[in-house]
Amino acid sequence: ELKASLSSQDTHKCLLLGDSGVGKTTFLRRHATGHFKDTHKLTKGVQVHTLLLQTNYQDLALELWEVAGDERHGGLCDGYFFFAKCAIIMFDLSVESTALSVARWLRSFERICGKQFPVIVCGNKADLKRMPRQLCYRQQPSFDYCELSARAAWNLEAPLELLSRQLLQRRSLKLISQPIFKPKVGCSFNEDEMQQQMKVVHEIALPELIED
Ligand code: GDP
Repeated sequence: ELKASLSSQDTHKCLLLGDSGVGKTTFLRRHATGHFKDTHKLTKGVQVHTLLLQTNYQDLALELWEVAGDERHGGLCDGYFFFAKCAIIMFDLSVESTALSVARWLRSFERICGKQFPVIVCGNKADLKRMPRQLCYRQQPSFDYCELSARAAWNLEAPLELLSRQLLQRRSLKLISQPIFKPKVGCSFNEDEMQQQMKVVHEIALPELIED
């Protein structure tokens, strides 16, 4: 059983970052249910999805934190970033401003978590007309980069595979089964640790959110 074999060392907190509207929620829902809902609702608060991944080396769990991406609230609260070991920064291939924001998301992540952790940059909505090539984030060679379409369910596993490669430091790592998102219940990561994290997050995050 995959989940039984995973310890908390194999569980990595990963931030899913990017401007509002780039498709973060859709990406998560795609994996969780195979459904695609065409309504745009601003993410409120934080959602955590634990994704169990089987690879040709070892199994791992990504605890994906999708945090409120509403820039009008002045960005995110630092608390959400605590204890993160990696990040996926998403932008919309058809909207230039979201690509330009990638640098800002990266700065926030590095400021709070440090520079030593893997970051994957991914362009979503590959099914749409892209912004001009010269504006694409592909130009930033220092990060692993991939493109996907949450709508078309195309290349959904690419950021997860790139990230797993970096986390386990295995260049030839491959995912060996299609990942499925599972609810946090029933997964083997430490519930107490999770509660503790949420407590820290809320103590720090809530006053700031209320101020807005
Ligand atoms: P979030 O704010 O980053 O969580 O973005 P959402 O997941 O709510 O998506 C914003 C909008 O983009 C929704 O209307 C989605 O249906 C749409 N969307 C998400 N992914 C794709 C995609 O791959 N292609 C297209 N064409 N639309 C997408």
